[in-house]
Amino acid sequence: AKDHGRNHYEFYSSSLNERLHRRMKIEQHLRKAIEYNEFVLYYQPIVDAATRRIVSMESLIRWDSQELGRVPPVEFIPIAEETGIIQKIGEWVLAEACRQNKAWQSAGLSPITVTVNLSSKQFYDPHLKELIMRILHETGLASECLELEITESTTMDVGMAMDTLRGLKELGLKIAIDDFGTGYSSFSYLKEFPIDKLKIDQSFVKDIHLNPVNAAIVDTIVTMTRHLKLQVVAEGVENEEVLDTLERCGCGLVQGYLFSMPVDGEKAKHLILSHELD
Ligand code: C2E
Ligand code: CA
Ligand code: CA
Ligand code: CA
Repeated sequence: AKDHGRNHYEFYSSSLNERLHRRMKIEQHLRKAIEYNEFVLYYQPIVDAATRRIVSMESLIRWDSQELGRVPPVEFIPIAEETGIIQKIGEWVLAEACRQNKAWQSAGLSPITVTVNLSSKQFYDPHLKELIMRILHETGLASECLELEITESTTMDVGMAMDTLRGLKELGLKIAIDDFGTGYSSFSYLKEFPIDKLKIDQSFVKDIHLNPVNAAIVDTIVTMTRHLKLQVVAEGVENEEVLDTLERCGCGLVQGYLFSMPVDGEKAKHLILSHELD
């Protein structure tokens, strides 16, 4: 019995060790990733459900580490946030997304919006507004062509969030609440915040055609956005049944593998072009 216990102890201790080791490696290589050009932005279309036109592209970061291979954002973004490395990464993402969108426009594509995911560290950075002003100026992108996606946890400090949101809105860009429904939604803040859009989390959307509770939740959110005069996006649309259900409840914008996986800037350009022609 004693041996058994020790084996258990060793099992847990070695797996904890592995996790700590992996974390350390990620942190170590993350610090060099910008300098080594290891980040790329991918883009996923957000589509008008009625016209099937692409209205915006969500930028999603990809990290191909020389040492670790491709590390998914769900693994390295939290580490980047805890270590503060997110500031530099976030700055790179904003600049790259704006540069890419301007490049599409300069190539003659009809203007669309590019959306950027903002971590809470960035949201509460007092220099965020200046940074965005500088990037818009340097890339020449019109502020209407940039949208920020923030999560509900980002806006926990309501007073501060309100000031930041007002400051950002003054620049003329758009703001979406990401992963809506998974955080601490408060309807009174929703009414007060100067936001443009809600993105319904994919966990509610995925099985909407089979799950009446999720269907009711999505339907309620869509109805609410209509009353609040907000736009609404359903994320994680993977099949036609889900799309049909969303259309029946009047959801305006949709995003998911049914339309496209996230793709690199060049492929995204062709997606925008092909949607212009039909
Ligand atoms: P998110 O912002 O909620 O992004 C949506 C995620 O769902 C993306 O995963 C996307 O590839 C995936 N997805 C899109 N359509 C479908 C679908 O139909 N089915 C399924 N199962 N998944 C779908 P990804 O790219 O791995 O990103 C994961 C998360 O990492 C993002 O969640 C976001 O929170 C974070 N992230 C990604 N890029 C950035 C970034 O540049 N900055 C920051 N701060 N966070 C980022
Ligand atoms: Ca997002
Ligand atoms: Ca989301
Ligand atoms: Ca998410």
